[in-house]
Amino acid sequence: MTFSSLGLSAPLLQSLEEKGYNKPYPIQSEAIPIILAGKDVMAAAQTGTGKTASFTLPLLQRLDNGERVKSKHIRALVLTPTRELAAQVADSVTVYGQHVALKSTVVFGGVKINPQINILREGVDVLVATPGRLIDLYNQEALKFSQVEILVLDEADRMLDMGFIRDIKKILALLPKTRQTLLFSATFSEDIRRLTDKLLKNPVQIEVSPRNAAAQSVKQSIYEVDKSKKTALLSHLISTNNWDRVLVFTRTKHGANRLTQKLQKDGISAVAIHGNKSQGARTRALAGFKANETRVLVATDIAARGIDIIELPHVVNFELPNIPEDYIHRIGRTGRASSLGEAISLVSADEVKFLSDIEKLIQQTLVREIETDFVPSQPVPITHLTDRSSKHKAAKKPTHNRKNSNHTRSSNRPKKRAY
Ligand code: AMP
Repeated sequence: MTFSSLGLSAPLLQSLEEKGYNKPYPIQSEAIPIILAGKDVMAAAQTGTGKTASFTLPLLQRLDNGERVKSKHIRALVLTPTRELAAQVADSVTVYGQHVALKSTVVFGGVKINPQINILREGVDVLVATPGRLIDLYNQEALKFSQVEILVLDEADRMLDMGFIRDIKKILALLPKTRQTLLFSATFSEDIRRLTDKLLKNPVQIEVSPRNAAAQSVKQSIYEVDKSKKTALLSHLISTNNWDRVLVFTRTKHGANRLTQKLQKDGISAVAIHGNKSQGARTRALAGFKANETRVLVATDIAARGIDIIELPHVVNFELPNIPEDYIHRIGRTGRASSLGEAISLVSADEVKFLSDIEKLIQQTLVREIETDFVPSQPVPITHLTDRSSKHKAAKKPTHNRKNSNHTRSSNRPKKRAY
């Protein structure tokens, strides 16, 4: 399979060649011909699968054949949940579209609105936007939607998680009814399905990895540890394993700040990104991490959305997320494209419910590890994939790996645990 066999035009093929992509990823082979044919698409695809190119390339080709954009108008709208993802999608539009004569721009909150108004005055073919700023611009009459031909909702599940449903509904009501709509989402909850029912016309459904399944290229495990020892264990793992680029997730902004400071005290370069940081600080933090100046990036779920760093080898969940789907999003930051990644979760006994929910979602019990000197005083209870009370087949027992440990453990059954 080649990009040219998918029906892409010469200018786009040239950009792909310059970018060094020689073969389409599965989502691209599936989605590109369908989108070129003008159909609505509903795609289950995580970040890292190549989904951005799968909608950007055909979108550019379709716009390239159409009418000129009028002042203050846009012809394609790509909505994303976060500023970071918006900036990344806009970068892709620029890169893939460098040999077609289309204008594109990106708008998001947290930066001045006037430069955005000025750019929109001339009209742009592709606008990448976060919902809040888009509505602000519309309210200031900087933007008209009557020329919109294509709408893309990227990471739709996350937009709903972040509470954008009202904004999205408001925007949808302003768009022309006749248009092509493409919806990408890592997971398909009931809420997403309700939204898609109204939004899409006879959509072609595309699924590149099993629904709600974690990326196959990610090696996943948990380290059982007491809550109070998590920071020390993380420092120890980073130092002894010589990890040079680690993305660490915390549940709260304060947690991210605290952990960053403690790692710095241990001599490990670390920086936090979260919603309380200015856009400039977030961009700088990300740039430092990408340039290998910072070893550890500590992020909250929302701030980490859309971070696109190829071959990010290690993702650590300092705490497990309380929404199981977030686990899939988090570990989707590693094992991206074709590289192998490792996702490690530091789990204390009080998090067993979160662990169990995640294991049920991904349909596998995670391998457990215990590090010498960090043997938990409160072990994490054993989890099962099915309800013990149900008549279904018994779950697989978790496998325990012991790293550098002289401790023995008699079995996986809770009552016989011996440390
Ligand atoms: P995405 O899922 O859109 O975030 O893409 C994941 C990563 O894969 C990005 O860094 C892309 O630049 C890269 N990528 C996308 N398509 C291809 C391809 N066909 N060949 C090589 N790399 C690709």
